[in-house]
Amino acid sequence: MSKQDVSFFDQVNRNFDRAAALTKHHPGLLQIIKNCNSVYHFTFPLEKDNGDVEVIHAWRAEHSHHKLPTKGGIRYSTGVNEDEVMALAALMTYKCAVVDVPFGGAKGGIKIDNRAYSKDELERITRRYTFELVKKNFIGAGIDVPAPDFGTGPREMAWIADTFTALAPDKLDGPACVTGKPLAQGGIRGRAEATGRGVAFVTREVCNVAEDMKALGLQPGLAGKRVVIQGLGNVGYNTAKFLIQEGAILVGISEYEGAIANPDGLDLEKVVDQRLQTKSVLNFPGATNLPSRMDGLELDCDILVPAALENQITAENAPRIKAKVIVEGANGPVTSDASEALDARGVLVIPDHYANAGGVVVSYFEWLKNLSHVRFGRMEKRFEEQAYRRILKTVERNTQRSFSEQELAAASQGADEADLVNSGLEDTMVTAFHRLREIRAVHKNQIDLRTAAFVDAIDKIAICYQDLGIFP
Ligand code: NAD
Repeated sequence: MSKQDVSFFDQVNRNFDRAAALTKHHPGLLQIIKNCNSVYHFTFPLEKDNGDVEVIHAWRAEHSHHKLPTKGGIRYSTGVNEDEVMALAALMTYKCAVVDVPFGGAKGGIKIDNRAYSKDELERITRRYTFELVKKNFIGAGIDVPAPDFGTGPREMAWIADTFTALAPDKLDGPACVTGKPLAQGGIRGRAEATGRGVAFVTREVCNVAEDMKALGLQPGLAGKRVVIQGLGNVGYNTAKFLIQEGAILVGISEYEGAIANPDGLDLEKVVDQRLQTKSVLNFPGATNLPSRMDGLELDCDILVPAALENQITAENAPRIKAKVIVEGANGPVTSDASEALDARGVLVIPDHYANAGGVVVSYFEWLKNLSHVRFGRMEKRFEEQAYRRILKTVERNTQRSFSEQELAAASQGADEADLVNSGLEDTMVTAFHRLREIRAVHKNQIDLRTAAFVDAIDKIAICYQDLGIFP
C-alpha cells in the first residue's frame, strides 16, 4: 500500500498511536481501546419502484463498549465500506470522550447514492436496515443509538424510530433508540443545527485566543475573518450561517458540482436558494467559478472548514492550502500525512473529533430528554421567571428605581429548551477547547491539537478499564 493509500481506519490509528506514545498506559490497555469491538455487514434486497430488485450493502460498527450505549451516525454514500465505518466509529469513541458524553463510539452506513432513489425506496431501505439491526441487537436506547450523518437527516431518523417502536411497542424508552428525530417524534430543539453551531462556537473560541492568533499573524476575533466552506449540507451550511452571524465573511464555497469565490463575501441564503432551484452553486451573480471543486480548498482565506467528506486534504494538496486555520467540520477531511505537513507549516488544525462534536453533544441531550419523558425547561421556566421578578421587585423597592414592563420581561426570562440546549453545547465546546490547549501546553506546545485531543480521549477511556482493576 502506498503512503497515499493508507486506509481511513489506519489513519485514525496512526493518530491514536502518536498520542498513545505520550501516555503511560499498559500496551494491552491501549490495544483494547484501539480495536473495533464489533462490525456487522449485511445485505438485503430492495424492490425498486419499477419492479427491479437490487441488493443493498449495509454496515454497523460498534467500536468501543467501555460505555453504553454506543453512539454514531448513519451515512448514505457510495463510498461506505467496512474500513470507513470502523474508522468513523473509532472517531466517535474518541469524540464522545473529549466532550464528556458517556457513550461508546459506533457508526453505520448504507452503500447507496441517496439521490438515485425515490422517497419510497429510501423509506423501504431505512426501515429494512433498522429491522436488520433489531434482529442482531445492534440498536436500542441502552445498546446502540444511531443519528444523522452524510446523506441522512430527521426524516430517516423518524423512520428508524417508527420501525423500532413498531417492533417493540411495549418499550417505554423506544424513541431513545435514535437521535436527530423531528420534534414531534421526540426530537430536541437545536439538534438539526447542533454540529454547525458547535463548529462555529469552536471557531469563535479559537479566534478569541490572542496568543494563538498572533502566532498565525492574525488579529484576535472572528469579525472580518475570511472563511471558505466545503460542503453546503447540514454541517457546512449551519457553520457558515453562524460564522456569518458572528461577523465572518464567506469568501468561498466548494460543493459537489464545483466551487465559487467572491473576496467581498457571498450571500449564503441566496447561494442556497439558487442551488435549490438549479442544483448548482456555479454561475452565482458576482462570484467567480473555479476550475474544479477541489480548487475551493486552495482559496486565499483565514479559515477553511471542510464539511463534506474524509480525505479531502492530502499530502498532495496540503502545500497549496492557504488558510491559517482549518476547522474539521467533516470527519477525517485531513489525512494524517497532510495534518503533519500543515502543522509543520504552522497551520492550526482543529481536529474533527473535537470540532464537530456538537451533534453528539445535543444528541446526548435528546437521549436524556427521551429517557426522562419531559422537555428541558418545562418544570422550571416559569418558576425561574417568577424568582427573577421577585429579585427585580426587591431591587426596585430598595433603590427607588422602577423598571418598565419591557425591562422586567427581558431580565426575568426563564430558560426554555432551546436556550438550555445551546447553552449546554456552548459550555461543552468552550470548556473542551481550553482543556486541549492545556494538554498541548503540558507537552510544551510540541504537539498539535489533534494529538492533544487523542491524549485526552485515551486518558479518559483508560480510567474506565483501570477502575475495573484490569490494568494498573
Ligand atoms: P450532508 O449530506 O448534509 O451534506 C454534505 C454536503 O457535502 C452535501 O451538500 C454534498 O453535496 C456535499 N459534497 C459531497 N461531496 C462533496 C465534494 N467532493 N466536494 C464538495 N462538497 C461535497 O452531510 P452532513 O451531515 O453535513 O455531513 C458532512 C460531514 O460532517 C461528514 O463527514 C459527516 O460525517 C460529518 N458530521 C456530520 C454530523 C451531523 O450531525 N450531520 C455530525 C458530525 C460530523
